[in-house]
Amino acid sequence: MCDVCKSKGLAKTMLNGSKENYSVTTMLYQVFLGKRVEIELCYLHDIELFKKGERRFISTNLEVMPILWQSKVAA
Ligand SMILES: [Zn+2]
Repeated sequence: MCDVCKSKGLAKTMLNGSKENYSVTTMLYQVFLGKRVEIELCYLHDIELFKKGERRFISTNLEVMPILWQSKVAA
C-alpha cells in the first residue's frame, strides 16, 4: 500500500482510478542524512514525487515521516 496514502488515511482506489493497482517502491536519498529509505507509492504520489522532487514532496507530505522513520530506514 502507498505509504503516503496510508499516512494520510486516503483511499488509494479513489485517487487513482484505473491505475489503482499501480504500486512502485522507490528510494529516497535526501530525506535522512546519509541514509537511503524505501517508500512505496501509488500512481498519483509517484507522479507527485517526480514533479516536486524529494524535498518538496516530503515537505508537503510530512505525515509520512513517522512511517519512514520507524520501519524503513535502510543501510
Ligand atoms: Zn498514494
